[in-house]
Parts: sequence; C-alpha cells; structure tokens
Amino acid sequence: MIEAACHCGAVRMEIAAAPDQVTQCHCSICRKLGVLWAYYPRDQVRIIAAPDATLAYLRGERNIAFHSCKTCGCTTHWSAVDPARKRMAVNARLMEPQVLAAAAVREIQGPEG
Ligand SMILES: [Zn+2]
Repeated sequence: MIEAACHCGAVRMEIAAAPDQVTQCHCSICRKLGVLWAYYPRDQVRIIAAPDATLAYLRGERNIAFHSCKTCGCTTHWSAVDPARKRMAVNARLMEPQVLAAAAVREIQGPEG
C-alpha cells in the first residue's frame, strides 16, 4: 500500500499498490493541470477526506469529475460520474517522489473540449 496527499493534507489517499506506469495526458485540461495520472479500479483507492473537502470540475462532456483540494488547490484525482464505471485516476504527483520516480511515464493525446 502507498499513500498520496495534497499539499495541506486535507485530502489523503491510501492506494493498493505503487503504479508501474503513469500517464501524461496532453488533452485540453490535463496539460493545464500539469498532472500525471495513475489509473486504478475504484476499490483500490481509499480517499480519506471530509465529504466537502474537494471541488469537482466537470468539463465538456461531463462524464468525469476532476477533483481538487478546496484548501490548497492541488488536483487530487478524477472519478467517473457514472458509478458503474469502475476506473478512476489519482494524480501521481501527490505520491512520494521516489514512488513517482520508479514509474514509467507514458504520453497520450486525450480529447479536447
Ligand atoms: Zn489540500
């Protein structure tokens, strides 16, 4: 198990395993957020935060919510709006630097909008 946390610590995550690979997405929002995504099934990530600790941003197609800490502004994760969709992503920049350094970085061109 590894942990990730935003800068102020209001949002913490317990994650089943360190990522082998993280994704740098060049879509319209990810390139502005400057994040590296580590994808997990929802049941492998436990988010430890007050229910209102994050701000959820829904872009164009409104099928995933990008969450950021309301206190320090760090992007923490995204999750699908549809609870049947089991995949989510954690911002790997919130993991310990040595965890991130051990992961390969894959670049993708995600959707615009
Ligand atoms: Zn924070």
